[in-house]
Amino acid sequence: MSRFEGWLFAHVAGRTVQLAAGMALGALAGSTVERPNAVLAGTVIGGLVAGAWMTLRDARRAARLARWLHGPTDRPAPRERGFWGELAYRTERLLRRRERAIEVERERLWQFLSAIDASPNGVLLLDAEGRIEWCNGVAAEHFGLDPERDLLQPATNLIRAPAFVAALQAGSLDEPVTLPGHAGRGTLHVLLRPYGEAMQLVLSQDITERERAEAMRRDFVANVSHEIRTPLTVLAGFIETLAQLPLSEAERQRVLALMQQQTDRMQALVADLLTLARLEGSPRPAGDHWLPVRRVLDTVRADALALSAGRHCIEFTGGDDAEVAGNESELLSAFGNLLTNAIRYTPEGGQIRAKWTWRDGGNGGGAQFEVADTGIGIAREHLPRITERFYRVDGSRSRETGGTGLGLAIVKHVLQRHGGEIQVESEPGRGSTFRLMLPALRVRRPRREAERDVLAA
Ligand code: ADP
Repeated sequence: MSRFEGWLFAHVAGRTVQLAAGMALGALAGSTVERPNAVLAGTVIGGLVAGAWMTLRDARRAARLARWLHGPTDRPAPRERGFWGELAYRTERLLRRRERAIEVERERLWQFLSAIDASPNGVLLLDAEGRIEWCNGVAAEHFGLDPERDLLQPATNLIRAPAFVAALQAGSLDEPVTLPGHAGRGTLHVLLRPYGEAMQLVLSQDITERERAEAMRRDFVANVSHEIRTPLTVLAGFIETLAQLPLSEAERQRVLALMQQQTDRMQALVADLLTLARLEGSPRPAGDHWLPVRRVLDTVRADALALSAGRHCIEFTGGDDAEVAGNESELLSAFGNLLTNAIRYTPEGGQIRAKWTWRDGGNGGGAQFEVADTGIGIAREHLPRITERFYRVDGSRSRETGGTGLGLAIVKHVLQRHGGEIQVESEPGRGSTFRLMLPALRVRRPRREAERDVLAA
């Protein structure tokens, strides 16, 4: 016999005893009355009274239990004695167990949904009628949905792209379809998978960046091909001339000089392309490899003087007391490119000033290397684009002076790798100023460091 059956048995036994006691009391009371059948009547009345009293008590307890079951279940069950107490206790225990199990399930579901919500891809669940059952935040953003208001709306009412509607009608997709994002923003890859009973899972991925990178790659290849094709065509023409025409020695020398120019141009282009490839493929320069700024500036200055060949007034200031943490050849290339450009885009007699300065008057704000010229300048509308690969304000001037169109792209890349940035100010006809801003972490004054070391010791 189980515990509960024990309680039930005790309850029935108790009630029987109470009934018998009522009847016995009734019989006793009847025996005091001297009337025929008084004992029998007393027994019946005693039994009835006891029965009614017990029924009333049970009904009150049952009503309390029923009231508790109907009300909010977070209240404790009514505390009763005996069988009713046991019944209430067992019911409450069962209820609490169920509640805990539901809570655990709910928690699990919540974790599951928040995991899907955290996904970088959009997830949309559609029921068998194609209505939205649930969607995560990314899908809402991709398709312009309201995760609450749009629930149970037919998906095709809200996502009207014909490719999506056709895919949904077909039921599944082996290849992702490409759709414009909500309000024409970006491009989406959408995949459809059936699941459960005729339900559908819609997965979306924003491929705008990937497409942009792909377009940039295509542009880059087209630009490189274009840059190489021109000198190659010229070279082919000269080779044909040399092979077919009887030229005088002077003419031959002139043709060879022009051929040399074209090969130089191709070599410069290949060198810049290799520099860019190296910048992209190598880790960032170490932050603890310090080199004297003076050394970099001296090399850049010597190259600049040689390139200008006395046509410009070139002035260098600052940088004696500075060290920079970075890659020497990258910094040479960045600083050198600015000087080369200043010389190429400044007419003879112009001034070029290169200056190393500390920002905010000390070491805290980093440092900058600035190259200012009095050259042809750059119109405002070109400024945002001049660091793009192959972007030139004046293509023929750039090429005539040996430009590849990659110089500033290299400068920008080098600066980014050193945690810095490039700033440009320019006015057509008055000149340009290019500033390379280096962060505090990458520059220091060696003497100050030594003093600090002495103080620390
Ligand atoms: P390029 O090899 O054509 O000089 P860059 O990337 O170095 O390529 O520069 C991009 C463009 O920015 C140049 O074609 C030129 O039009 C402009 N530019 C760069 N530096 C200067 C400067 N100091 N003065 C005027 N224009 C400049």
